[in-house]
Amino acid sequence: MKVKPRIVVSRCLGFENCRYNGQMITDSFVDQLKDYVEIITVCPEVEIGLGVPRAPIRVLKISNDYVLYQPETKRDLTKEMTEYCKNFVEKTTEIDGFILKNRSPSCGVGDVKIYSDYSETLLPKRESGFFGRIVRDNFHSSVVEDEGRLRNLKIREDFLIKLFAFANFRKVRNEKNMGSLVEYHSHHKLLFLAYNQYRYRLCGKIVGNLEKLSIEQVLSDYEKELSKLLSGHIKIGSMINSLQHAFGGVSEDLKVEERKYFLDSLDEYRDERIALSVITHLLMSYAVRFEKEYLAKQVLLNPFPLELTTASRTGRDSNIS
Ligand code: SF4
Repeated sequence: MKVKPRIVVSRCLGFENCRYNGQMITDSFVDQLKDYVEIITVCPEVEIGLGVPRAPIRVLKISNDYVLYQPETKRDLTKEMTEYCKNFVEKTTEIDGFILKNRSPSCGVGDVKIYSDYSETLLPKRESGFFGRIVRDNFHSSVVEDEGRLRNLKIREDFLIKLFAFANFRKVRNEKNMGSLVEYHSHHKLLFLAYNQYRYRLCGKIVGNLEKLSIEQVLSDYEKELSKLLSGHIKIGSMINSLQHAFGGVSEDLKVEERKYFLDSLDEYRDERIALSVITHLLMSYAVRFEKEYLAKQVLLNPFPLELTTASRTGRDSNIS
């Protein structure tokens, strides 16, 4: 079912020298992704006509209204940026994820300095930049992260899992076929149970379609519920349950020593001594050996291309916020 995800990336992350100071930033994760995803780049500041290099801009919050301001020129760029963002939302579809430059008054998501007025007075709480905010508010079936947070391997793993899950769903949505939706829901079962059991069951009810709704309505309802399910993070207890559930499908075929080895490995994973991928590889090897097709097709065992993973990852949610 794997599909090539489509992502939007801030152009200064390795594509063009478009930062205010005429530079760009090398991002090894974005580089690594290039072979596995389709990338669309944006630079909102250049696209509203600001040159390179340019005087820095900042976000002000005055009486609850956001203002994009360039102190050096005293230009108010709010109208231009708001129009650019509105256009972007109207014209951009079929996107599974965003990787945006952190701290930028345009691209930043959640970590941008906000000034209370035209002076140097900062508000205590950081928020999103103009473009970052519009992305967060409008692209609910996409995973949105900034490049700074993605340096954390657990956040990166969470991002990749969601990116490929959204991309796989996009294919189902475009096929408009009930069989494809049933297959998608079934193949993602153990993964989604690790995210949120309650929401997985709500998704199941939608797939059940007792009310005989149209395929368009079913897909739309499923997409809304899926977005809520994937807005959370994997919990260790739920992940252990999913792994035990998967193990239940093969344990009777294993020797006593093999069963013990798996359960010991699960304890090591629980204690953060080994990566999640060690457990999922073990399970996949059992699924292949005993020809357990249901298990082999579970996305949990292979949620994104192996080349994008790293050995140090455990799949925990401790650093995710
Ligand atoms: S952060 Fe966004 S607006 Fe700023 S240079 Fe990078 S892409 Fe352009």
